[in-house]
Amino acid sequence: MAQTLKNLPQIQSLLTMPAIAALVAQYSHAEIVEALRKIIQDLRSTLLADATVPLPDFDSAEFAAQIAVAVEARRAPSLVPVINATGIIIHTNLARARLAPQALQAITTTAQSPSNLELDLATGKRGSRHSHVEKLICDLTGAEAAVVVNNCAAAVLLSLMATAAGRNVVASRGELIEIGGSFRLPDVIAQSGATLREVGATNKTRVGDYADAIDGDTAVLLKSHTSNFKIIGFTSAPDRRDLAKLARDRDVILMEDLGSGVLIDLAPYGLGDEPVVADILKSGVDLVMFSGDKLLGGPQAGIIAGRRDIVASLKAHPLMRAVRIDKLSLAALEATLRLYRPPFDPITDVPVLAMVAQSADVVERRAYALAHALKELGMQNVSVAQSISYVGAGSLPQQDLMSFAVAVQSPDLTAEALMAQLRKSTPPVIARIEREHVMLDVRTVSDWDVAILTAAFKRILTQ
Ligand SMILES: *Cc1c(COP(=O)(O)O)cnc(C)c1O
Repeated sequence: MAQTLKNLPQIQSLLTMPAIAALVAQYSHAEIVEALRKIIQDLRSTLLADATVPLPDFDSAEFAAQIAVAVEARRAPSLVPVINATGIIIHTNLARARLAPQALQAITTTAQSPSNLELDLATGKRGSRHSHVEKLICDLTGAEAAVVVNNCAAAVLLSLMATAAGRNVVASRGELIEIGGSFRLPDVIAQSGATLREVGATNKTRVGDYADAIDGDTAVLLKSHTSNFKIIGFTSAPDRRDLAKLARDRDVILMEDLGSGVLIDLAPYGLGDEPVVADILKSGVDLVMFSGDKLLGGPQAGIIAGRRDIVASLKAHPLMRAVRIDKLSLAALEATLRLYRPPFDPITDVPVLAMVAQSADVVERRAYALAHALKELGMQNVSVAQSISYVGAGSLPQQDLMSFAVAVQSPDLTAEALMAQLRKSTPPVIARIEREHVMLDVRTVSDWDVAILTAAFKRILTQ
């Protein structure tokens, strides 16, 4: 075996071989050395396991091609666009909301040139980055004041830190949620320096429970939107107006973590359960926090809106600098918020909302177009099936949208193997499996993606 290991060439001698020297000229010395090291190391491990494995011909076109593939793979970006055929509109693993063209334009413009991010153009003095969206958010939500941070998790942490550090936060046992990525409300409250006082039971909490828990150390009553689960059956939670009255009477702050930020009524599109931010503030909640990239349809951001004095204290808090929104997200957020006002219509101009509002007919037609294209490729086991789409990202757990999927089976690949092949496509296609079929839900697929999907299947069929 030692003899075989000794037959492995040195990197330096490999580099003098004509086929490999040509690669150095085509790529770079550093990349080829890196790829060679990796290949030789892998060969060493292989030989240690089985000394009879034959060595490749190092000065051959085949070996050079193997190195070229490795170098190209290292050059390729890691973060790439994918086709979302899961039917989950705001899929956290697939980067949540896709942005409107206006938001993309704002990102490009802001990235390319200096901007008045923190300059007041009227006075020439230092301005605030918050000023660019505060009025828009106030107009759209009826809030007195607003401020924007990196994401909703940061919004909750900052709001609690600034109002309740060293004091008590009262929250219902039915609302101590965990969002994906181990954001657990009790942990966030602890991180803020506040102490959690749990009240009520998992399924029922009454105003009296909150009232009994308030004492001289209480700073905040915290409500949170149970956005990724639903308790059904024998349940009750207090009306916000009653809680708001209690908070005012006892001089504590009523705060609500909404998760998804819905700025318009989505009941006409089958999503009536999601509370509208303006209604929540109108019912007397002092401060709300919500995400920029869930149902609002913008970039990653955390929006905090409500009472002017509280927002002022957040703006002045030392943590603010650490959680502030960056300029590209801010540009995209402003552009997205403007789509909620004339001359735009958010239902058609905000892509996430357009996807929610798509009629089942449109989705069904797209499913038949895709099924037809796949059959044209000679695929046998292709059919259109009714499907259920979800909003996703911890929004509206119970509310499903009627959708359509193309169900596909391969004669020689299992559903898992076919899914793996689809993930290897360029762009990768992400779907789901149901009863041994790969299901391509087309509510989340755009019309122009149908041709790309078809090409992905063509490649799989012909390889
Ligand atoms: C999604 C969600 C969050 C976290 O929002 P991010 O923008 O992902 O940080 C917080 N609270 C609730 C209720 C949520 O649904």
